[in-house]
Amino acid sequence: MIRLSHIGKHFGTLHVLKDVSVDAPEGSVTALIGPSGSGKSTLLRCVNLLEIPESGDLELGDARLSFAPGARVPFDDIQRVRRQTGMVFQNFQLFPHRNVLENVMEGLVTVQRWPRERAAERARELLDKVGMLQKADAWPATLSGGQQQRVAIARALAPSPRVLLCDEPTSALDPGLAAEVVDVLRRLAAEGMTMLMATHDLRLAASIAQRVVFLENGVVVEANSAAAIFTQPADTRTRKFVATLT
Ligand code: ADP
Ligand code: MG
Repeated sequence: MIRLSHIGKHFGTLHVLKDVSVDAPEGSVTALIGPSGSGKSTLLRCVNLLEIPESGDLELGDARLSFAPGARVPFDDIQRVRRQTGMVFQNFQLFPHRNVLENVMEGLVTVQRWPRERAAERARELLDKVGMLQKADAWPATLSGGQQQRVAIARALAPSPRVLLCDEPTSALDPGLAAEVVDVLRRLAAEGMTMLMATHDLRLAASIAQRVVFLENGVVVEANSAAAIFTQPADTRTRKFVATLT
């Protein structure tokens, strides 16, 4: 579903992604783990082209892109990629001046030009799915972090993306509230949603991902099944990193 091949990215002189290749197969959850600053968020942002890589290739659903230093990515390609991805951020990023229902409807109405009634109906379905329908009229600021993140997940799912990109989806939450978000993500995974999730939370990765990619200093150190990464990592750097999960 997602194939990143030989992706390179600098921020100024900082070489953030060094020849990174990652596959996220359809219908499964792939976790990107690694220390803070290893390039997880940047890699995720390269998938939906919030950052443009300097080199390498991206295949995502029916999109095929190649990157070269200084080359502009055609707008159509960006649209094709964005149409197929939904993104969930660490800090939810709901629109503060829109209620819950409007947050979920927004993209459908403004980007996809759906009639409001139809968008509202779809938004209600998704809010029901994440257990937030009873809060449809609430303002984001009145919700707990876990509730806000569940609304953000509903919003990301609204345009029916083929893949859900999650950047530290539980990191801003207390354990109890993180659990309700994990619950929702787990249900989506069970329904076959393809996900690529950056997280430094090894417990989350172990509980939800089939495949795990360990990134360090912008390099993929090891990629394997979750079971292999957590129980018999091949690389000493991976072993050291996952040893913190006991
Ligand atoms: P992670 O998500 O694994 O913590 P990031 O992808 O956020 O890592 O960051 C990787 C490196 O790139 C870090 O050194 C970070 O400071 C740097 N970085 C990230 N975004 C930017 C940016 N927009 N401009 C400059 N440096 C950045
Ligand atoms: Mg990050």
